[in-house]
Amino acid sequence: MFADLYQAIILEHYRNPSNVGLVEDGLQARNSHPSCGDKVLLSLRLDGQRISEAKFLGEGCSISQASLSMMTEAVTGQTVDEVKAVYQAFRRMLYGEEPNEELLGDMVALHGVSKFPARVPCATLGWETLALLLQLDDGSVGDDPSDQPCG
Ligand code: ZN
Repeated sequence: MFADLYQAIILEHYRNPSNVGLVEDGLQARNSHPSCGDKVLLSLRLDGQRISEAKFLGEGCSISQASLSMMTEAVTGQTVDEVKAVYQAFRRMLYGEEPNEELLGDMVALHGVSKFPARVPCATLGWETLALLLQLDDGSVGDDPSDQPCG
């Protein structure tokens, strides 16, 4: 499904995910992708416009959980505007555009998911949840049915 290097990055995050847990008294949102069994409780702390802490409790496939691990790493310490730029770059990548490696870092490992539309909601689960919490969606990046949590 993926080039070996990308597969290794995804499996490493799946086996040893970063930022597992719950931010006490933080913003929280639950989301799921029922057809794959992916679930997440995402929590984060905002210091003004900056995310100072982001954690998740999740279960599901390797793509969903690796994406959550990478996402929480990527957004910690970033401002809401910076996160929005990464979110949009991530979605564009999953809709088949060439990834912006500067913005996406390790997350380019998920580029191959764009060839498997049924798995795209796995990769975007965490980001859609973050978008709900931070109200990132302003309609500037195409329509996405997974914007609506299922189930
Ligand atoms: Zn999944």
